[in-house]
Amino acid sequence: MTGAETARVRGLVKEFGDRRVLDGLDLTVRRGEFTALLGRSGSGKSTLLRVLSGMDTDIQGESTVDGQVSMAFQQPRLLPWRRVWRNITLGVETGDARGVAERALAEVRLTERADAWPRTLSGGEAQRVSLARALVREPDLLLLDEPFGSLDALTRLAMHRLVTQLWERHRPAVLLVTHDVDEALALADRVLVLEGGRIAAEHLVSAPRPRSIAQLSELRAHVLSDLGVNDHEAA
Ligand code: ADP
Ligand code: MG
Repeated sequence: MTGAETARVRGLVKEFGDRRVLDGLDLTVRRGEFTALLGRSGSGKSTLLRVLSGMDTDIQGESTVDGQVSMAFQQPRLLPWRRVWRNITLGVETGDARGVAERALAEVRLTERADAWPRTLSGGEAQRVSLARALVREPDLLLLDEPFGSLDALTRLAMHRLVTQLWERHRPAVLLVTHDVDEALALADRVLVLEGGRIAAEHLVSAPRPRSIAQLSELRAHVLSDLGVNDHEAA
């Protein structure tokens, strides 16, 4: 692996029983690059993220990550019996856990919720806590598995801005799984489509941020067609 790469996957095969979900998948993630991964439900997106995170090592082929990996999920998975700030620093070794948590909460604009219990948070707030928790681990690779899927449209747009800002400030490589083509086009440098157990298509998105989806309608049509969706049906 070269110094310019954060993750390298070669010939990755993942089977569950006799079902082959990933079938010789190759993927390179460069340092600081924002990649979105699209694919139909059951195509293996979460499986790929679990392999990259090191949670699943029962694989064939190569999967290497250089540096620290953090993951945030569609469900924030906060521990209900820990206050927000404790959830953020759980498992982090530091002398000043409170200070670390407060700085991370300030970054996601939730300072005032440090002492709240998770069940009192809105969906968007819980997602911001989940992001803060991923950030305190100073990841070189940030894996986001449909993190905004359960949020309403306005909260989702606010989260897009927040994630873009955090990415610009910290520059981790990001691999964002989403089923939302517009989200992928708004956020990522590169949009990949997972199909048949491999990366079946790749589109580079060079438009400057913040982006308007109207500028990207041609690319949008290509990506939808890669996903087997007719643009007119989807609209
Ligand atoms: P995606 O995230 O793209 O929707 P997943 O990676 O979750 O898809 O799952 C891909 C396929 O692998 C699905 O058919 C799913 O049922 C199967 N699968 C995932 N995890 C397991 C598991 N632990 N045991 C058996 N089958 C699994
Ligand atoms: Mg999934």
